[in-house]
Amino acid sequence: MIELDHVTMTYESRDVVKDITLQVKKGEIFGIIGPSGSGKTTLLKIINLIEKPSSGRYRFDGSVVFRTGKGADPVGRRMAMLFQKPVMFNASVDDNIGMGLRFRGVREAGRYPLVEQALQEVGLAGYGQRKARTLSGGEAQRVALARAIVISPDLLLLDEPTANLDPKTAVVIEEIIRRLNREKGMTIVLSTHDLVQGQRLCDRIGVVIDGQLCQVGTPVEIFHMPGSTPVAHYVGVENIFNGRIIDASAGCTRFETQGVVLMSGSERPASQEVAASFRAEDVTLIIGDAGKTSARNLLPGKIVEMSPYGPFTAVKVDCGITITAFLTRTTVEDLAISKGSSVTAAIKATAVHLFGT
Ligand code: ADP
Ligand code: MG
Repeated sequence: MIELDHVTMTYESRDVVKDITLQVKKGEIFGIIGPSGSGKTTLLKIINLIEKPSSGRYRFDGSVVFRTGKGADPVGRRMAMLFQKPVMFNASVDDNIGMGLRFRGVREAGRYPLVEQALQEVGLAGYGQRKARTLSGGEAQRVALARAIVISPDLLLLDEPTANLDPKTAVVIEEIIRRLNREKGMTIVLSTHDLVQGQRLCDRIGVVIDGQLCQVGTPVEIFHMPGSTPVAHYVGVENIFNGRIIDASAGCTRFETQGVVLMSGSERPASQEVAASFRAEDVTLIIGDAGKTSARNLLPGKIVEMSPYGPFTAVKVDCGITITAFLTRTTVEDLAISKGSSVTAAIKATAVHLFGT
């Protein structure tokens, strides 16, 4: 549905979107993740025809499109965007939602059932007569979403749709987004810096760092098989080591870093410079006999640091290389470990991902 071809956006002689080539398929939920200031909103605005890229080509359903600056633009009419900080007009909820329809020349009698239906879809049936500016943050966000979907867009663009909401309200919004996609077949492109949301909601994800599209893939590919060190860092991979390939056979590549050998299920990367990564969640710690584990990598070491990390404890183990493991509180209690304890870090070969740097 969307094809961006070498799209660059320059503001005041600075490239904030750099040579991005990207396709979004009809019917998918595509997530754009990346740090703040990396160009996510700009990319959404380009897709929404609010911004005209400085260079590159944008095709929508196979035709080259560009901003005409006119509201009547037929392609523009097929999309709606929910901005990160939506503005509510000082009017009723109904009027706020019906606004886009009014601009499109839909008369009041025709607007009413569409507005009602949109309210129902966001779970706010009966809210029509309330003053929009008296709503809670979560309600206002749902009204803003209703305002975007009331025109039945083929493409819905959402800029950090849950950034300012509490986790429970965020889940409600996510459910609405998923339903719009599954039941109405709406193609959805959303930006988020909530990694968990990206993982939970999206069919595919593009990682944008400093204006560059670094990687596109399924959530599993992005979070477990990052293609570069910046992506690995951004998606929260704790264990990243530069090293070299010793040898490779079917299903097992041996990698060496600082004198430590790791077995990986990844194929040998084409590049000379290679790094290995694995998530801290994929490391188990064993006390004493490691005979029962099926993990191919068993690295003895000593705990050098333990610190709280959200619901987990981050445990750093010096095994020649410093390996970080995330353990639950109960696991830490069961193992009765503390700083200085001798443990064996166990990592499955399938969890060790190799990539060229
Ligand atoms: P994100 O949404 O990922 O936080 P943005 O797309 O909003 O990033 O911004 C990317 C960069 O472009 C930022 O450094 C921002 O300051 C800059 N930028 C965005 N819009 C404009 C503009 N209209 N004029 C100049 N610079 C801008
Ligand atoms: Mg933004």
